[in-house]
Amino acid sequence: MQLQDAYDENNIFAKILRGDMPCIKVYEDDATLAFMDIMPQAPGHVLVIPKEAATNFLTLSSAAAEATIKTAHKLAPAVQRAVNAPGFMLAQLNGSAAGQTVPHYHLHIIPRQDGLEMALHARDMADMDALSELAEKIRAEL
Ligand code: 5GP
Repeated sequence: MQLQDAYDENNIFAKILRGDMPCIKVYEDDATLAFMDIMPQAPGHVLVIPKEAATNFLTLSSAAAEATIKTAHKLAPAVQRAVNAPGFMLAQLNGSAAGQTVPHYHLHIIPRQDGLEMALHARDMADMDALSELAEKIRAEL
């Protein structure tokens, strides 16, 4: 069984890419966009998305996969420095059975601190001013 769902042009990340919905941007280039997760699992939780319209890992082109990984590779150390995190998780969910809630491919960069549990996935909204401050710190570390 494979995940070949048709792309939903009205998913929230498609709207962010079109500029129809706001986001707290951290980084953008021709192929990718990175922004703060509004329901972070840890302070500094960033999402990296390709601009290509792909639902999941299986429908993503290899060029877009490469671009997304490159952006995550560039951002992860900046995220770590911004929140002084000794570790981070790079996570990516495929299909609702795996917990994917937004059907546009994305990588999660989730900073991890020793002994601190992560918050639940996509549960509690963050304070927008605090998110903006974190985004500024991450951008300053790039
Ligand atoms: P998934 O469950 O698909 O792996 O992850 C989707 C992520 O998007 C979740 O961590 C959730 O908190 C985040 N998210 C959902 N809606 C929005 C939104 O409107 N803006 C932002 N910035 N993040 C969102």
